[in-house]
Amino acid sequence: MSERVLVLGAGFGGLELASTLSEELGDRVQVTVIDRSDSFVFGFSKLDVMFGHATAESVRLRYTDIAKPSVQLLRETITAIDPQAKRVTTDAGVHEADTLVVALGADYDFDATPGLAGANEFYSVAGAARLAGIIPTFAQGHAVIGVCGAPFKCPPAPSECALLLHDELVRRGAREACEITFVIPLGRPVPPSPETSEALEAAFAERGITLMTGRRIASVDPAAGRTTLDDGTELSYDLFLGVPKHRAPDVVIESGMTEDGYIPVDPATLQTAYPDVYAVGDVATAGVPKAGVFAEGAARVVAQALIARARGEDASARHLGQGTCYIEFGAGRVGSVDIDFLSGPEKTGTFHAPSAALVAEKERFGSTRRARWFGA
Ligand SMILES: Cc1cc2nc3c(=O)[nH]c(=O)nc-3n(C[C@H](O)[C@H](O)[C@H](O)COP(=O)(O)OP(=O)(O)OC[C@H]3O[C@@H](n4cnc5c(N)ncnc54)[C@H](O)[C@@H]3O)c2cc1C
Repeated sequence: MSERVLVLGAGFGGLELASTLSEELGDRVQVTVIDRSDSFVFGFSKLDVMFGHATAESVRLRYTDIAKPSVQLLRETITAIDPQAKRVTTDAGVHEADTLVVALGADYDFDATPGLAGANEFYSVAGAARLAGIIPTFAQGHAVIGVCGAPFKCPPAPSECALLLHDELVRRGAREACEITFVIPLGRPVPPSPETSEALEAAFAERGITLMTGRRIASVDPAAGRTTLDDGTELSYDLFLGVPKHRAPDVVIESGMTEDGYIPVDPATLQTAYPDVYAVGDVATAGVPKAGVFAEGAARVVAQALIARARGEDASARHLGQGTCYIEFGAGRVGSVDIDFLSGPEKTGTFHAPSAALVAEKERFGSTRRARWFGA
């Protein structure tokens, strides 16, 4: 009998896990991946969509295009997870597994920030698509880019948003009539990498973007065009671009697997407190930032453990928390930061200044995954 691996979520983590198991084990494994959506979208594509560089439709990668031996993709909504029994209930039925991998990502908690539901956010595809119609109409006044809570996905993304908004306003000749303020609850734009933070702070200063660190958006009043920060500061705005507070999906919280909001795992192996149940990516507390590149790295470690078990070998792969995040600096320039959180005693983040080589590398990051996961 081949091992039944049930993967919950077809994002960065779930797609990488299913692809690796299919390639390495073929019919020695039966992989079932469940996702409620019909398509995957790279996080960075949301910035392309909001600034009109791509349409929401063009950045969707359809799950129906996936054709991998031993992998079955089901479009169902997960309604209950029993980690003890490794049993999952969906709107279409019940699934049982030998190994369960939770890769359901982080959801957005709009209710945690009063008024946010009626304001604009750019962290969902729908929010980014809506903004594609609004940003072109903003030609004067105050734009506030504001983060409603940490941790949040891809810590550099709101900085990228501020720099890309600057570009967009310059392109339309509207920059001088506009102010841009960026509010972030972290002490610096990318805390584990002082060099990256310095480069971003310098880029904001050069462009006249006001940076407010160590504060978060506490509430938004879209009718009045006003947001209040957690220290009581009030900012009037004409354009608000928000990052909602994140939390684990309800179904994960209801499963009883979470502590302090997310699923605790052994950072080296991604095992949860339940035998043969793993959690990878944004849904887990694994000592790494919430970003696709780490979800994917974690999934590879779980894949290696399952492959070793199927081959009767010892599992030796350890999650080192390493990965490269690309950062849009505006004007078509891309820098990067190499994160290494778990391999040594110190968390490190090595900055690489924007270059043409990094523009090509970021493009390759997307195209290799499109090819590997979707055959596109
Ligand atoms: C603006 C922006 C820019 C970003 N840029 C980058 C970047 O440059 N590099 C990078 O590495 N990361 C980036 N990220 C972060 C990245 O997108 C996420 O960290 C990554 O997708 C996490 O992967 P995951 O597998 O944990 O979860 P996800 O990719 O979020 O996948 C979770 C899946 O679970 C499914 N799901 C959830 N609940 C249910 C349910 N109840 N039933 C069925 N299915 C369900 C969802 O539909 C989803 O497909 C960015 C994010 C944003 C928002």
